[in-house]
Amino acid sequence: MELWFSEKNTETCKFSIKVKEQIYSEQTPFQKIAFFESYDFGRFFTLDGLMMVNEKDEFIYHDMIVHVPMAVNPDIKKVLVIGGGDGGTVRELSRYKSIETIHLVDIDERVVRLCQKYLPQTACGFDDPRVKTYFEDGVAFVKKNTSYYDLILVDSTDPIGPGEGLFTKDFYNDCYNALNENGILINQHESPYFENYAKEMKKAHVKLKSIFDVCKVYQFHMPTYASGHWLFGFASKGLDPIKDHRKDKWESLGLKTKYYNSGIHLGAFLLPTYVEEKLNSPD
Ligand code: SAM
Repeated sequence: MELWFSEKNTETCKFSIKVKEQIYSEQTPFQKIAFFESYDFGRFFTLDGLMMVNEKDEFIYHDMIVHVPMAVNPDIKKVLVIGGGDGGTVRELSRYKSIETIHLVDIDERVVRLCQKYLPQTACGFDDPRVKTYFEDGVAFVKKNTSYYDLILVDSTDPIGPGEGLFTKDFYNDCYNALNENGILINQHESPYFENYAKEMKKAHVKLKSIFDVCKVYQFHMPTYASGHWLFGFASKGLDPIKDHRKDKWESLGLKTKYYNSGIHLGAFLLPTYVEEKLNSPD
Protein backbone atom coordinates (compact mmCIF):
# COMPACT_ATOMS: atom_id res chain seq x y z
CA MET A 1 0.00 0.00 0.00
CA GLU A 2 1.28 3.48 -0.89
CA LEU A 3 1.00 6.26 1.69
CA TRP A 4 0.87 9.89 0.55
CA PHE A 5 0.61 13.16 2.48
CA SER A 6 -1.38 15.68 0.42
CA GLU A 7 -1.92 19.35 1.13
CA LYS A 8 -4.59 21.26 -0.75
CA ASN A 9 -3.23 24.48 -2.25
CA THR A 10 -6.63 25.32 -3.72
CA GLU A 11 -9.85 23.33 -4.10
CA THR A 12 -8.42 21.90 -7.35
CA CYS A 13 -4.67 21.71 -6.74
CA LYS A 14 -2.75 19.50 -4.32
CA PHE A 15 0.89 19.04 -3.34
CA SER A 16 1.73 15.44 -2.39
CA ILE A 17 4.68 13.68 -0.76
CA LYS A 18 5.05 9.93 -0.61
CA VAL A 19 5.59 8.91 3.01
CA LYS A 20 7.22 5.85 4.51
CA GLU A 21 5.13 6.06 7.67
CA GLN A 22 3.22 8.30 10.00
CA ILE A 23 5.27 8.37 13.19
CA TYR A 24 2.90 10.10 15.58
CA SER A 25 -0.22 12.19 15.76
CA GLU A 26 -2.04 14.03 18.52
CA GLN A 27 -4.97 16.42 18.80
CA THR A 28 -4.11 19.21 21.26
CA PRO A 29 -6.60 21.85 22.48
CA PHE A 30 -5.24 24.09 19.67
CA GLN A 31 -4.51 21.92 16.63
CA LYS A 32 -3.75 18.47 15.25
CA ILE A 33 -0.02 17.69 15.21
CA ALA A 34 1.35 14.87 13.04
CA PHE A 35 4.86 13.63 12.27
CA PHE A 36 5.79 11.66 9.13
CA GLU A 37 8.89 10.03 7.67
CA SER A 38 9.23 10.70 3.92
CA TYR A 39 11.52 9.72 1.06
CA ASP A 40 12.36 13.14 -0.37
CA PHE A 41 12.04 15.54 2.57
CA GLY A 42 13.15 13.42 5.52
CA ARG A 43 11.05 13.75 8.64
CA PHE A 44 8.36 16.41 8.65
CA PHE A 45 5.49 17.65 10.79
CA THR A 46 2.12 19.14 10.01
CA LEU A 47 -0.42 21.22 11.95
CA ASP A 48 -4.05 20.68 10.97
CA GLY A 49 -2.88 18.95 7.78
CA LEU A 50 -0.56 21.76 6.64
CA MET A 51 3.19 21.34 6.17
CA MET A 52 5.15 23.19 8.85
CA VAL A 53 8.74 21.98 8.86
CA ASN A 54 10.71 19.24 7.14
CA GLU A 55 14.35 18.23 7.45
CA LYS A 56 15.18 19.00 3.82
CA ASP A 57 14.06 22.61 3.27
CA GLU A 58 13.70 24.11 6.77
CA PHE A 59 17.10 25.82 6.44
CA ILE A 60 15.69 28.14 3.76
CA TYR A 61 12.84 29.46 5.90
CA HIS A 62 14.95 29.77 9.05
CA ASP A 63 17.88 31.47 7.27
CA MET A 64 15.56 34.03 5.73
CA ILE A 65 13.53 34.86 8.83
CA VAL A 66 16.65 35.41 10.97
CA HIS A 67 19.66 36.53 8.92
CA VAL A 68 17.91 39.25 6.90
CA PRO A 69 17.08 41.44 9.96
CA MET A 70 20.35 40.51 11.70
CA ALA A 71 22.30 41.82 8.69
CA VAL A 72 20.40 45.12 8.91
CA ASN A 73 21.01 45.56 12.64
CA PRO A 74 23.78 43.25 13.86
CA ASP A 75 23.55 44.98 17.29
CA ILE A 76 20.21 43.35 18.08
CA LYS A 77 20.17 42.17 21.71
CA LYS A 78 16.57 41.43 22.68
CA VAL A 79 14.45 39.22 20.44
CA LEU A 80 10.88 37.96 20.65
CA VAL A 81 9.79 34.97 18.56
CA ILE A 82 6.04 34.41 18.31
CA GLY A 83 5.15 30.88 17.25
CA GLY A 84 8.24 29.01 16.07
CA GLY A 85 7.64 26.03 18.37
CA ASP A 86 9.79 23.77 16.19
CA GLY A 87 12.89 25.67 17.39
CA GLY A 88 14.48 26.37 13.99
CA THR A 89 14.26 30.14 14.36
CA VAL A 90 15.80 30.19 17.83
CA ARG A 91 18.50 27.80 16.58
CA GLU A 92 19.59 30.39 13.98
CA LEU A 93 19.27 33.31 16.44
CA SER A 94 21.42 31.56 19.01
CA ARG A 95 24.35 31.59 16.55
CA TYR A 96 24.72 35.33 17.26
CA LYS A 97 26.88 35.81 20.38
CA SER A 98 25.76 39.45 20.61
CA ILE A 99 22.10 38.53 21.28
CA GLU A 100 21.35 38.63 25.02
CA THR A 101 17.74 37.45 25.34
CA ILE A 102 15.47 35.34 23.16
CA HIS A 103 11.86 35.03 24.28
CA LEU A 104 9.85 32.40 22.41
CA VAL A 105 6.06 32.39 22.85
CA ASP A 106 4.16 29.46 21.38
CA ILE A 107 0.51 28.88 22.21
CA ASP A 108 0.98 25.11 22.15
CA GLU A 109 3.57 23.48 24.43
CA ARG A 110 3.00 20.14 22.68
CA VAL A 111 4.57 21.47 19.47
CA VAL A 112 7.79 22.20 21.36
CA ARG A 113 7.82 18.93 23.31
CA LEU A 114 7.07 16.79 20.25
CA CYS A 115 9.63 18.58 18.09
CA GLN A 116 12.20 17.98 20.84
CA LYS A 117 11.39 14.29 20.54
CA TYR A 118 10.90 13.87 16.79
CA LEU A 119 12.68 16.82 15.14
CA PRO A 120 15.95 17.43 17.05
CA GLN A 121 17.46 19.06 13.95
CA THR A 122 15.40 22.19 14.65
CA ALA A 123 14.50 21.75 18.33
CA CYS A 124 18.18 21.89 19.36
CA GLY A 125 17.58 25.68 19.43
CA PHE A 126 15.92 25.33 22.83
CA ASP A 127 19.18 24.23 24.48
CA ASP A 128 20.60 27.77 24.48
CA PRO A 129 20.38 29.32 27.98
CA ARG A 130 19.44 32.71 26.49
CA VAL A 131 16.17 31.19 25.22
CA LYS A 132 13.20 31.58 27.57
CA THR A 133 10.05 29.79 26.47
CA TYR A 134 6.48 30.88 27.27
CA PHE A 135 3.39 28.86 26.46
CA GLU A 136 0.66 31.39 25.85
CA ASP A 137 -1.08 33.31 23.10
CA GLY A 138 1.37 35.64 21.34
CA VAL A 139 -1.44 38.15 20.83
CA ALA A 140 -1.71 38.72 24.61
CA PHE A 141 2.03 38.32 25.31
CA VAL A 142 3.12 41.12 23.01
CA LYS A 143 1.03 43.64 24.98
CA LYS A 144 3.19 43.11 28.08
CA ASN A 145 6.26 45.12 27.07
CA THR A 146 6.65 48.61 25.64
CA SER A 147 9.75 49.75 23.72
CA TYR A 148 11.59 46.60 24.80
CA TYR A 149 12.52 44.39 21.85
CA ASP A 150 15.01 45.09 19.05
CA LEU A 151 13.46 42.41 16.88
CA ILE A 152 10.15 40.54 16.74
CA LEU A 153 9.86 37.49 14.48
CA VAL A 154 6.35 36.21 13.82
CA ASP A 155 6.99 32.58 12.91
CA SER A 156 3.34 31.62 12.81
CA THR A 157 0.94 29.25 11.16
CA ASP A 158 -1.39 30.57 8.43
CA PRO A 159 -4.20 33.00 9.41
CA ILE A 160 -6.62 30.24 10.35
CA GLY A 161 -7.15 28.60 13.76
CA PRO A 162 -4.85 29.78 16.57
CA GLY A 163 -2.70 31.83 14.15
CA GLU A 164 -5.55 34.11 13.06
CA GLY A 165 -4.89 36.79 15.71
CA LEU A 166 -1.28 37.11 14.53
CA PHE A 167 -2.46 38.72 11.27
CA THR A 168 -4.62 41.48 12.77
CA LYS A 169 -3.99 45.22 12.81
CA ASP A 170 -4.28 45.31 16.61
CA PHE A 171 -1.55 42.70 16.90
CA TYR A 172 0.77 44.58 14.50
CA ASN A 173 0.10 47.76 16.52
CA ASP A 174 1.06 45.97 19.73
CA CYS A 175 4.25 44.73 18.02
CA TYR A 176 5.05 48.33 17.05
CA ASN A 177 4.67 49.41 20.68
CA ALA A 178 6.75 46.48 21.96
CA LEU A 179 9.68 47.44 19.71
CA ASN A 180 12.28 50.06 20.63
CA GLU A 181 13.14 52.92 18.28
CA ASN A 182 15.37 50.79 16.01
CA GLY A 183 12.97 47.88 16.15
CA ILE A 184 12.30 45.48 13.27
CA LEU A 185 9.30 43.19 12.78
CA ILE A 186 9.49 40.22 10.43
CA ASN A 187 6.20 38.46 9.77
CA GLN A 188 4.76 35.60 7.80
CA HIS A 189 3.51 37.17 4.58
CA GLU A 190 2.08 34.08 2.89
CA SER A 191 2.45 33.57 -0.88
CA PRO A 192 1.62 35.70 -3.91
CA TYR A 193 0.74 32.91 -6.34
CA PHE A 194 -2.59 31.29 -5.49
CA GLU A 195 -5.42 33.77 -5.01
CA ASN A 196 -6.43 32.52 -1.55
CA TYR A 197 -2.87 33.09 -0.24
CA ALA A 198 -2.35 36.32 -2.20
CA LYS A 199 -5.38 37.82 -0.48
CA GLU A 200 -3.75 37.27 2.92
CA MET A 201 -0.44 38.68 1.64
CA LYS A 202 -2.18 41.85 0.54
CA LYS A 203 -4.19 42.22 3.75
CA ALA A 204 -1.09 41.86 5.94
CA HIS A 205 0.82 44.39 3.83
CA VAL A 206 -1.93 47.03 3.95
CA LYS A 207 -2.20 46.73 7.74
CA LEU A 208 1.55 46.94 8.31
CA LYS A 209 1.95 49.89 5.94
CA SER A 210 -0.58 51.87 7.95
CA ILE A 211 1.53 51.42 11.12
CA PHE A 212 5.25 51.19 10.29
CA ASP A 213 7.48 53.83 8.63
CA VAL A 214 9.34 51.23 6.59
CA CYS A 215 7.35 48.36 5.15
CA LYS A 216 8.93 46.01 2.57
CA VAL A 217 8.32 42.47 1.41
CA TYR A 218 10.96 39.87 0.54
CA GLN A 219 10.78 36.50 -1.13
CA PHE A 220 12.38 33.10 -0.98
CA HIS A 221 11.94 29.69 -2.51
CA MET A 222 10.24 27.20 -0.19
CA PRO A 223 9.64 23.94 -2.09
CA THR A 224 7.04 22.48 0.29
CA TYR A 225 4.86 25.57 0.86
CA ALA A 226 1.97 26.38 -1.48
CA SER A 227 3.41 27.20 -4.94
CA GLY A 228 6.97 27.15 -3.55
CA HIS A 229 7.09 30.97 -3.59
CA TRP A 230 6.92 32.40 -0.08
CA LEU A 231 7.23 35.86 1.47
CA PHE A 232 8.19 37.58 4.69
CA GLY A 233 7.33 41.16 5.60
CA PHE A 234 10.07 43.50 6.84
CA ALA A 235 8.62 46.40 8.85
CA SER A 236 10.56 48.84 10.98
CA LYS A 237 10.49 52.23 12.66
CA GLY A 238 13.26 53.53 10.41
CA LEU A 239 15.84 50.95 9.37
CA ASP A 240 15.67 50.14 5.66
CA PRO A 241 16.63 46.59 4.65
CA ILE A 242 18.64 47.79 1.63
CA LYS A 243 19.99 51.26 2.58
CA ASP A 244 20.92 50.08 6.06
CA HIS A 245 22.22 46.64 5.01
CA ARG A 246 25.42 46.06 7.05
CA LYS A 247 26.95 43.62 4.58
CA ASP A 248 30.56 43.94 5.79
CA LYS A 249 29.66 43.73 9.45
CA TRP A 250 27.49 40.65 8.87
CA GLU A 251 30.14 38.96 6.73
CA SER A 252 32.80 39.66 9.38
CA LEU A 253 30.83 37.43 11.79
CA GLY A 254 31.83 34.44 9.64
CA LEU A 255 28.51 32.61 10.00
CA LYS A 256 28.17 29.73 7.58
CA THR A 257 24.72 29.66 5.97
CA LYS A 258 23.29 27.37 3.34
CA TYR A 259 20.73 29.69 1.70
CA TYR A 260 21.26 33.26 2.94
CA ASN A 261 24.14 35.38 1.63
CA SER A 262 24.67 39.10 0.99
CA GLY A 263 23.59 38.82 -2.66
CA ILE A 264 20.38 37.00 -1.71
CA HIS A 265 19.74 39.75 0.86
CA LEU A 266 19.52 42.35 -1.92
CA GLY A 267 17.87 40.11 -4.51
CA ALA A 268 15.13 38.92 -2.17
CA PHE A 269 13.64 42.43 -2.04
CA LEU A 270 13.38 42.62 -5.86
CA LEU A 271 9.90 41.28 -6.47
CA PRO A 272 8.25 40.07 -9.68
CA THR A 273 6.00 42.66 -11.37
CA TYR A 274 2.74 40.86 -10.57
CA VAL A 275 3.66 40.74 -6.88
CA GLU A 276 4.59 44.45 -6.76
CA GLU A 277 1.34 45.29 -8.55
CA LYS A 278 -0.76 43.25 -6.16
CA LEU A 279 0.97 44.74 -3.09
CA ASN A 280 0.56 48.30 -4.35
CA SER A 281 -2.89 48.05 -5.93
CA PRO A 282 -5.59 50.14 -4.23
CA ASP A 283 -8.03 47.23 -3.60
N1 SAM B 1 7.51 27.69 9.63
C1 SAM B 1 6.16 27.41 9.82
C2 SAM B 1 5.24 27.74 8.69
O1 SAM B 1 5.28 28.83 8.14
O2 SAM B 1 4.47 26.87 8.33
C3 SAM B 1 5.65 27.89 11.09
C4 SAM B 1 6.03 26.90 12.10
S1 SAM B 1 5.71 27.14 13.75
C5 SAM B 1 5.55 25.46 14.14
C6 SAM B 1 4.11 27.83 13.95
C7 SAM B 1 3.74 27.86 15.44
O3 SAM B 1 2.86 28.94 15.68
C8 SAM B 1 3.03 26.61 15.94
O4 SAM B 1 3.86 25.92 16.82
C9 SAM B 1 1.77 27.14 16.64
O5 SAM B 1 1.47 26.48 17.85
C10 SAM B 1 2.17 28.59 16.86
N2 SAM B 1 1.03 29.51 17.02
C11 SAM B 1 -0.10 29.59 16.29
N3 SAM B 1 -0.89 30.58 16.77
C12 SAM B 1 -0.23 31.15 17.81
C13 SAM B 1 -0.53 32.21 18.70
N4 SAM B 1 -1.68 32.88 18.62
N5 SAM B 1 0.39 32.54 19.64
C14 SAM B 1 1.57 31.86 19.74
N6 SAM B 1 1.89 30.83 18.92
C15 SAM B 1 1.01 30.49 17.98
